[in-house]
Amino acid sequence: MARSLDSVWHPCTQMQHHETMPLVALARGQGAWLFDHDGRRYLDAISSWWVNLFGHANGRINAALVDQLQRLEHAMLAGFTHEPVVQLSEQLAARTGHALGHCFYASDGASAVEIALKMSFHSWRNGGQSDKQEFVCLQGSYHGETIGALGVTDVALFRDAYGPMLKSAHVVATPDARLAAPGETAADVAARAAGALESLLQQRGERIAAVIVEPLVQCAAGMVMHDPSYLRAVRNLCDRYQVHLIADEIAVGCGRTGTFFACEQAAIWPDFLCLSKGISGGYLPLSLVMTTDAVYQAFYDRDMARGFLHSHSYTGNPLACRAALATLQIFDEDDVLNQNRQRASQLGQALAPLAAHPQVRHFRQRGMILAFDAQVDNPTQAASFARRMFAAGLEQEVLLRPIGRTVYLMPPYVLDEEEIALLAQRTQSVFEQEVSR
Ligand SMILES: *Cc1c(COP(=O)(O)O)cnc(C)c1O
Repeated sequence: MARSLDSVWHPCTQMQHHETMPLVALARGQGAWLFDHDGRRYLDAISSWWVNLFGHANGRINAALVDQLQRLEHAMLAGFTHEPVVQLSEQLAARTGHALGHCFYASDGASAVEIALKMSFHSWRNGGQSDKQEFVCLQGSYHGETIGALGVTDVALFRDAYGPMLKSAHVVATPDARLAAPGETAADVAARAAGALESLLQQRGERIAAVIVEPLVQCAAGMVMHDPSYLRAVRNLCDRYQVHLIADEIAVGCGRTGTFFACEQAAIWPDFLCLSKGISGGYLPLSLVMTTDAVYQAFYDRDMARGFLHSHSYTGNPLACRAALATLQIFDEDDVLNQNRQRASQLGQALAPLAAHPQVRHFRQRGMILAFDAQVDNPTQAASFARRMFAAGLEQEVLLRPIGRTVYLMPPYVLDEEEIALLAQRTQSVFEQEVSR
């Protein structure tokens, strides 16, 4: 197969790197495996950028899509509705006990974040509080790469080049559990970080529309984990200072952290919850924002301009919604959250020997996310660590894509015992090879 080097401009890539590292041309996928045109296979240990939940070419999702294709592939969602979008909205609302009973649709994660930001701002304005125009995000936060989403993203590599174009948010302390001083717990770090947020809200709460948080794991920051008590504290502060809470569950939702929504582990609901990535099983672009009655009612009026006039051409695409429905059905039919408890514990045990490696720091796990940091002292070796691990992983049939020096596994929820053993053994061997260079 031709691997054209310049007609396709690849995402998140310095294209010149492909002068020395060829692209992998994929022919097909099956279960947790991807197969290239040369007959080589790769275990998809990162769920193809965190989207795939039930394996590639999943029989049940495929069948649902074939059925949907024969009924309705797409129609506009203004003035029209269809069964898949209604069912999906109702099933998701039910999963929040109807605390978040209204779903607004888009196609990608960044757009869901934009929608939550706009809805928060506009609902305050409709309520006569048009001074609430500012947003708060956490250190290291990642919420997508469109202009609005970059404004609440604190990753220098993605953000700095566009600084002059952005309306930047307030950045507050991260509750990163790794910051615990000797004798401190993750809950202590969380309380300290919540204290920093409170100081900001005390000073500027009247101008702040919303705080955006990625619950439990700041994934793109390098699988940075925090104590659930942080989310409870933020919920309380948001209530006290009349500020919305936006939970970006684009990566951590859909069972990834052990519960269907990560927020459930803190027993809170946000004012806005963003979902994307896994919601369609990794099949089709779909994102959505769930919100409360209070927000919905703030727009409900005879006046057009008080409505939420945001739209995307493919809003509520029937095929994507149908893939999502098939995904939710698998959660129920296969008792996935319970099955994953066992799978996560097997994965943790299989990788446990690495925790004792002298160059491994902060071995950590939350549900189906496992991560550790590599201690690499030579700066040149450290800078190339992620790319070397990726290349060495492919040599040993595993797709790993470290973030900086953080190695992580975020596999689809289909790995069997043999695949878990293989993944653990290959990850360890690739790590030992590359960390000692
Ligand atoms: C991936 C991601 C996004 C952006 O989603 P896209 O579909 O890539 O635009 C936003 N927030 C979080 C937490 C993500 O992981």
